Amino acid sequence: MKKMTLTTKILVSLAGGIIVGLLLFPLKNIPFVEHYIIGFFLKLGGSVFIKSIKMLVVPLVFISLTVGSSAIGDTKKLGRIGIKTLSFYLFTTAVAITIALVLANIIDPGNGLVIESISKTSTVVSDSKSFVDVLIDIVPSNPISAMAKGNMLQVIFFALLTGMGLTILGDKVSKIKDLFDQSNDLILELVNLIMQLAPIGVFCLIATTFSTLGYQAMVPLFKYIMTTLLALLIHVLVTYQGLLYLAAKINPIVFIKKFIPAISVAFSTSSSGATIPVNLEILREKFGVSKSTSSFTIPLGASINMDGTSIMQGVAVVFIASAYGIQLNMGDYMMVILTATLASIGTAGVPGAGPIMLSMVLTQVGLPIEGIALIMGVDRIIDMNRTAVNITGDAVCTLIIAKSEGEDISGEVKAELI
Ligand code: ASP
Repeated sequence: MKKMTLTTKILVSLAGGIIVGLLLFPLKNIPFVEHYIIGFFLKLGGSVFIKSIKMLVVPLVFISLTVGSSAIGDTKKLGRIGIKTLSFYLFTTAVAITIALVLANIIDPGNGLVIESISKTSTVVSDSKSFVDVLIDIVPSNPISAMAKGNMLQVIFFALLTGMGLTILGDKVSKIKDLFDQSNDLILELVNLIMQLAPIGVFCLIATTFSTLGYQAMVPLFKYIMTTLLALLIHVLVTYQGLLYLAAKINPIVFIKKFIPAISVAFSTSSSGATIPVNLEILREKFGVSKSTSSFTIPLGASINMDGTSIMQGVAVVFIASAYGIQLNMGDYMMVILTATLASIGTAGVPGAGPIMLSMVLTQVGLPIEGIALIMGVDRIIDMNRTAVNITGDAVCTLIIAKSEGEDISGEVKAELI
């Protein structure tokens, strides 16, 4: 057991949880099973895991976004490249989440799952709120209260502002910058620690789902995975390859062939951060991208550009809403696009960060955070795939920007640039 990687452990608990849940399903009305097995052990393991994740959301978003945006501050030096990179990242993320929402609405993976009909829990965004009020609401009148209430748009706004302030003040506030950098390391370590609980959490959550819903949960969860994978595939094949071909004249097959090592690292580590070195190497050595462009776009992309993650969030929102019988309107979808795009900036490039940020998107549109429990059990499978998409987006952006800067990205290595 000790030698197993975390991914294997999670996949084993996933399978174990499904089997135990299905075995418990016919027994669920026996008092011992109902009160002790489901009502105590499974509830304890699942709830502690979900609560630990929720616990990290506000500090994680605030700290990682402050650090991220203070790094973006260097765009002043890099001028055009910074603005181009940022626009590219935000644009492709918004396209990604739109693909996810459209596809999820067509397939409706949550159809057939009936959790319980509850009304929207939103206090933040109500249906009657006008667009101008939504915009005004992004600015917190009190950042501490925004954090305490978990109003993520307000937390993001304050974090971006703090990052900008840090950049402007530069060396004068180097100690505060260090504090943020180190807090960022700390919070990522906390994510890492909580993820050690994932096998137990996943087992309890998935066993609870199947013990209460039985076989009927199988098809919707399978459809959820397939919908997400399909949206990821469409984004890579249509958005990325289309942009690559149009803007950089790179043949998609040639790109994929050269890029496969990075995809396999992303797939096996589920971490954009861990893929940075191989991504850089491929872009420099196989395409000939300059060091100055790639060392700006790739690390930045690994921490703020998460198209795959936002696709998962889009499908998950539709899935959870449908499972809880909650209707989302156009305003809600716009809010999902906005928050998931911002959430992708704040998502750390580490395994399992996506669902943490999903709780922020759910809160923002007033869906029950508990819905995460439904998809958490199968998240690792999706994490491997979405991470591969996340880093592919970073590489595509880098190639297009390098091309637009007049670099020769035909594949010949230019020694003077490396
Ligand atoms: N694992 C993803 C990444 O590193 C983040 C996520 O959980 O969505 O890119």
